Amino acid sequence: MNIEKILEFQSLDNEIRKLEQQLANSPDQKAIEGLQKLVKETQTTSANLEKEAENSVNEYQKMQKSSQDAIATMNNLAAKKEQSLSEEEYAACVKQLNNIAGFLANIEKRIMQIADKVNAILSEYENAKQNYNHAKQKHSMHKNNLLALQQQILPQIEQLSSKLATLESGLDQTFLKKYKAKRADRIFPVVVPMRDNSCGGCMMELPMAQIEKLKKDGFLECESCHRIIYLK
Ligand SMILES: [Zn+2]
Repeated sequence: MNIEKILEFQSLDNEIRKLEQQLANSPDQKAIEGLQKLVKETQTTSANLEKEAENSVNEYQKMQKSSQDAIATMNNLAAKKEQSLSEEEYAACVKQLNNIAGFLANIEKRIMQIADKVNAILSEYENAKQNYNHAKQKHSMHKNNLLALQQQILPQIEQLSSKLATLESGLDQTFLKKYKAKRADRIFPVVVPMRDNSCGGCMMELPMAQIEKLKKDGFLECESCHRIIYLK
């Protein structure tokens, strides 16, 4: 392995990496990710509100039906009351009418509660809609900023990448494959020198046997951080 060439390759790769990070960590990129999350949450809220509204409407319809039934029963009883009834029958009839009146009052109360709930749902829905529209506007602003940054950075990455490709051809291909796999695993720098008998990446002290192996082979994979250690 020609360590000079490898270090030159890694140093160029690091420039590309910094540019990639500049893109990934741009405030606009973070803002876009945040807004995407917000839009998703708003969609869930809207779906839940629709479900709640549907339940309220169903309950309202049931209450109306109960109310109509109660009124019909009440009318029947009222007609019956007019007929010649014994004192006992009359008392039973009045009792039933009072029960139904109480039942109707409860239904009316419940219907008012449902109406309040539907109003609350509508206002929450309106809120969610406003949040969504606001997020959409902000999203398009950040998207434009990000595009401008990409237009500035991507050509630089492209230029460096073509230089990197030229250097690649001069490297050992087995090593290159290993390097790329580590880079993809977010291990960077991939290649580090041995420092005071320790790994130059994670500073773990190397056992004598490993140092001997490093001296013999010229390189060694760190057992702790999996970087490739070379001898200076
Ligand atoms: Zn290490």
